[in-house]
Amino acid sequence: MNETLPPCPDCSSEYTYEMGSLLVCPECAHEWAPAADSDATESGPAVIKDAVGNVLEDGDTVTVVKDLKIKGSSTVIKVGTKVRNIRLIDGVGDHDIDCKVDGVGPMQLKSSVVKKI
Ligand SMILES: [Zn+2]
Repeated sequence: MNETLPPCPDCSSEYTYEMGSLLVCPECAHEWAPAADSDATESGPAVIKDAVGNVLEDGDTVTVVKDLKIKGSSTVIKVGTKVRNIRLIDGVGDHDIDCKVDGVGPMQLKSSVVKKI
């Protein structure tokens, strides 16, 4: 073990040491959990991208890039339909956008079928 521990986030002391899964600062007695590199990619905030690779954010307006049939109904969301004020979610399957489509109602979409405008 000769990895360098990060300095204390409170007082910037370099004399931090590990205590179990926590890091401890001997100067101000601050204890904190170090950022886990291996978990960061899995549990960190997911970056959600649209059909052409733009990063989507809450509140964005997007357009639908292909006709979408709605399961269990004859309604089709036409290509080019504008969807305002999307909300990014961790939805069912790969649905990652929660939104309300004019004339259709609230629903979840996949980021792969929309394009940010
Ligand atoms: Zn400290």
